[in-house]
Amino acid sequence: MTAALWASIVQASAAEHAPRPEIRPVGGEIQLASADVTTSLRPVPRPTVEVVRASSAGNARFQAWLGAFEDRARDQGISQSTLGHALADLSYDLDVIKRDRNQAEFSKPIWEYLDGAVSDTRIANGRAALDRHQKVLRRIEAQYGVEKEVVTAIWGLETSFGTYRGSNPTIRSLATLAFDARRASFFETQLIAALQIIQAGDVSAGRMIGSWAGAMGHTQFMPTSYLDHAVDFDGDGRRDIWSDDPTDALASAAAYLARHGWTKGQPWGVEVRLPEGFDYATAKRDFTLMPSEWAKLGVVGRDGEPVADHGQAAILLPAGGQGVALMIFDNFGVIESYNGADAYVIGIGHLSDRLAGRAPFQTPWPRGDRVLSFTEKKELQTRLTKAGFDTQGVDGRTGPNTIDAVRAYQLAQGLVPDGYPTLKLLERLR
Ligand code: CA
Repeated sequence: MTAALWASIVQASAAEHAPRPEIRPVGGEIQLASADVTTSLRPVPRPTVEVVRASSAGNARFQAWLGAFEDRARDQGISQSTLGHALADLSYDLDVIKRDRNQAEFSKPIWEYLDGAVSDTRIANGRAALDRHQKVLRRIEAQYGVEKEVVTAIWGLETSFGTYRGSNPTIRSLATLAFDARRASFFETQLIAALQIIQAGDVSAGRMIGSWAGAMGHTQFMPTSYLDHAVDFDGDGRRDIWSDDPTDALASAAAYLARHGWTKGQPWGVEVRLPEGFDYATAKRDFTLMPSEWAKLGVVGRDGEPVADHGQAAILLPAGGQGVALMIFDNFGVIESYNGADAYVIGIGHLSDRLAGRAPFQTPWPRGDRVLSFTEKKELQTRLTKAGFDTQGVDGRTGPNTIDAVRAYQLAQGLVPDGYPTLKLLERLR
């Protein structure tokens, strides 16, 4: 379920959703094409810059690639009969490449993402889904130890509770993406896994459909995640995540989280209040304390009371020193294994809280600010490095090195050292 590369991948739709622990997304960057808002809310880590070069000539090259691929697939145990069945009359899907290459210059700020991810409509639809499927969700919770609201939140963000599962033939999408050089190795691995699924008889090639990026079913599993984590929960002998009946897919998502270390009863995160004079250098993932220790430093729940000692916790500031401050626990990292973008994890966590009847975030977001564009982030990195605050490279992403450099610059300038890059900061550097 996690993914990073797919950064690019998605922008689109229900697409990509899928377990893809192989790739880590970068930082908290997200992009979301506006068209996605009604379908999928998977945040998209930023893709590498590349030009769409696909053309009709592509199909000839695709057929040549396919011939060579078949040899490699046979070497990995895919039978001639599976290949003949699954790859018959396969053509290149230009639309998939276009979607893959499509990228936005501007990312959405976290609050805009959450406006869609945890909208009133999604909460209402989620409560209805919980109600409709409560029996099976309770059984899933009992077996895997993952709260039904969390499983339902994943269902809600991945496919709007099964409404947008994608209509692309998975083999065609994966073959197109494996042929395309940008992330060929990742997608060839997925394509082989998809052929293994067909060969095992779990589903026919014709029924294997999903997002344009190869994610399948209600909770958008990539083929490797299916092989590793999908379960047959309704007991009919097949792990069927493609069915209209979400039972196997929901149980598979719970199994995935359980196997990645989900702790039942532990929050993913809790909104907290920071004290005057808070040491922003302590707001980082690798600095953890027990909530009672955080309370001694003045970090308490919104109600002013210490947060319960659910385990070691870090402080996460999704919008820097302004906006919501979160105390996050190990379960945050478990959701991250499904999709590594901070915005996605917060979206899942907060939606699950709202489905469970907990309160909306109380602290207002800095809605007047816009986030830096890709180009502006690169400019910021260049200028910081030139000014002696080395970002260890210029890639337009806000990773840990950039955050550290921003923080060091803020400290040197007498600013609040929250490590959060703003337009104001860039203007100061110009
Ligand atoms: Ca089944």
